[in-house]
Order: sequence, then structure tokens, then C-alpha cells
Amino acid sequence: SLSDRLTAALANLRSKGVLTASDVDGTVREIRRALLDADVNLDVVKQFTANVRERALGADINKALNPAQQVVQIVNDELIGILGGEQRRLEFAKQPPTVIMLAGLQGAGKTTLAGKLAKWLENDGHTPLLVAADLQRPNAVQQLQVVGEQAGATVFAPEPGNGVGDPVRVAKDAVRFARDKQHDVVIIDTAGRLGVDQELMKQAANIRKATDPDEVLFVIDAMIGQDAVATAKAFQEGVDFTGVVLTKLDGDARGGAALSVASVTGRPIVFASTGEKLEDFEPFHPDRMASRILDLGDILTLIEQAQATFDEQEAMELAEKIATSQFTLDDFLKQMQQLRNRGGLMKMIGMLPGARQMREQLDQFDEREIVRTEAIIQSMTPAERQNPKLLNGSRRLRIARGSGMTVTDVNQLVQRFDQAAKMMKTVARGGVPQIPGMGPV
Ligand code: GDP
Repeated sequence: SLSDRLTAALANLRSKGVLTASDVDGTVREIRRALLDADVNLDVVKQFTANVRERALGADINKALNPAQQVVQIVNDELIGILGGEQRRLEFAKQPPTVIMLAGLQGAGKTTLAGKLAKWLENDGHTPLLVAADLQRPNAVQQLQVVGEQAGATVFAPEPGNGVGDPVRVAKDAVRFARDKQHDVVIIDTAGRLGVDQELMKQAANIRKATDPDEVLFVIDAMIGQDAVATAKAFQEGVDFTGVVLTKLDGDARGGAALSVASVTGRPIVFASTGEKLEDFEPFHPDRMASRILDLGDILTLIEQAQATFDEQEAMELAEKIATSQFTLDDFLKQMQQLRNRGGLMKMIGMLPGARQMREQLDQFDEREIVRTEAIIQSMTPAERQNPKLLNGSRRLRIARGSGMTVTDVNQLVQRFDQAAKMMKTVARGGVPQIPGMGPV
């Protein structure tokens, strides 16, 4: 994957005391190949590698870092740059309702996104209205109604059966309806086609003209690879848009779309969609995406999601523990118990350092492990759970007997706990975990 390749390219530098031009060129060549293989647009790759090369060879470098760290920092900066730099927030109208129009190919995830946006806005105190202006695809209206119901949002749709086929009219009526009924945001779902086509563009452009939206979000499936750039350009010419939403980032997209679209269109990525469920959705942070691509982990998002997913108090405590490195066997057990009821954990792990390896482990994770861990930890005294160093040979034997396990099981558990604790410490120390052998960035 892109992440592996970039990490490997950068890791090659770690033994160097001084960087020569040929070291830099070698690394830049590897980065270039990795990006191209990940379907990043050629123009974007050229610009990116030229910038990295120039800065890595330039005098304007931070003398406090070793050469490898400097290059990692430069690559990270440049990645953030092509992903749009600063986080771009949704623009709201001064005079409600705020009108948000969604455009994109069929299957990009517009209807799903409409529901996600509605829910997200509701959580923030808004009263969104969903508008079914996709009158092309059979069932599109019904699908939006289902999504709306899940999100608890009102859906504005033409009366079924009376043959009104004019999406522009529906969109216009919806904005008026929203004004009358005090909906402060209008989300218009438009029709997509399997490929870019002129009629589709014209329709979307007409809806845009008729409703004068505050935001036109171009929705694109991150899995479509090289086609992303051509599609985005076609929509930019045909309809134009104010921001991009990347969907299906949970799939094994090679990252090329994310890295190309913002840069090629000059339009920022506003949201990221990471699954089929309504809560699989988040504002897009270029810096976090960059560190995810470099597999440096993403502690901020992790803590934010932990806050949303778990009890907030508990998340604060965990964050505090990470910060102060007081991670105990009780915490370890709690984390493991969360494995039982949280499919979302997989996603959180995606943001941790060494994500891939952990995901694989999680794939192989045996639920019975939780039961065994519970049995062992519950056989320990509270003092031992706080401080596993108290666990000497005879205590381990007693615990093994008490829990119906073997001493080897107990030893393995303690070992796994030590590893987890070490990782927590890395996170706490630098904020950003290190690529093995390279030191914190
Ligand atoms: P539309 O034609 O643009 O309205 O696309 P839909 O909203 O109908 O989505 C097409 C398919 O993609 C549906 O099966 C969705 O469940 C799925 N989908 C949408 N967003 C995501 C996402 O972020 N991740 C995954 N894995 N699937 C998604």
C-alpha cells in the first residue's frame, strides 16, 4: 500500500548521518513510484516530488532533526499541502436556509451522504431538510426516505405517481418549503449517471442556478482511482463545486483519489465518508489524512471518535491515562472488553500507529480471548492490576489455578499488556509515535 511504500522509502534514510543529493534523489524516486502506483495523478506527483526534493536539498531545514526526520517532516508538510492545507469547514448562509447541493456519479454515495450530513447537522442543533431531486434512478426517492427516517430528518419528495419529473422544480419548491417550515439547512440529493454525461451536467447546473446553493459538494468514490481526476474536472466544468466529499475511504482505496482531486481542482475536501452506516462520517482534516498515509497514527481523531463512541468520561480518562502513562491491567481489560461490542474499533485501529499489523491481528482475534483475559485479570488482586510488577512466580501460579489457565497463559497476558503499555507511552511522549528506529518526528 501507499502507506507501506512511503514508510519504507523514508526508513531507508534512517541510518544516514548526512544527506547527500543522491540519497535525496533515491528517496524521491521511490516516493514518486509509490504515488504513481497508488493512482495519484501524474501532474500532482511531479509537483509533489519536485517540492520535496527542493526542500530536502535546500538550506532551509531544521537543524534540530536528523536527516531522515527532516525528510519525513517535509513529506508530511507537502502531503498536507496537496490535501488542501487547513481544514475547510462547511459554510452556512447568513440568512437561513443554508442550501447544500450534492453532485456526483451514480453510486458515489450521495444519498448515503445526505443522511450522514443530516444526522451530523442535527447533532449540532440544526434542522435539516432532505430533498429528493434524483428522479432518474428508480427507488432513489424511496432510498432517501429510508435514509431520512434513519437520520430522523424530514424528506421533501414529489408526490409519488403523479409523474412530476422535474428535479429543478422539486429543488426550488423544497427551498421554499424549508423557509416556511423553519428548516435551517436544505440538502439536495441530485441524480447521478454511471458515467459523465452532458444531460446530467445540464440538470445539475440547472438545479444549481435555481437554488443558488451555499455549498455544492462533489461526492466521489475514493475507490475509482485514476478516473477520479477526469470525473472531478468534468463536474467542475459542468456544474462547478465548492468542496469535495470523499466516500468509501474504508475500502482498500489506494489513496490516489484523495491525493489528486483537491490538488487538481483547487477545491478543498470537506468531509470523508468511511462506511455504510450513518455515523461513518467525519469532517476531513488534511493533516490527519497525511499522517494516516504516512502511518504515523492519528491520535486526535482517535480521541475524538472515542468521545463520540464511548462514554465521554471514559474517553477523557483514557486520554488522561495516555498522557500520564498510567495504563493499568484494568484499562487493558476494559479495552479488550470493548472488542466484544465495537465493530467500530476496527476503524479506530486504522488511525493508530502500526495500523495494518493491528488490523490483521484483530482479524484473527478470537472472542474467547476476552473470556480468558477476564478470568486471569479478575483472579488478580486490585494492587496487582494496578502494578503488574507485583506478579512473581508464585502469584502467577496461584492466578493460573484460580482462573483455570496455565502459567504460560498468564505470562503471555502480562507480555501483551506490556506491549500495549509501551505503545501508550510512545503516544504520550511525543504525540506522534515513531517509525521504528527513527525517533519521534
Ligand atoms: P448514490 O448513487 O450516489 O446516491 O450512492 P448511494 O448513496 O446509493 O451509495 C452507493 C453504495 O455505496 C451503497 O451501497 C452505499 O451503502 C455504499 N456507500 C456509500 N458510502 C459508503 C462508504 O463511505 N463506505 C462504504 N463501504 N460504502 C458506502
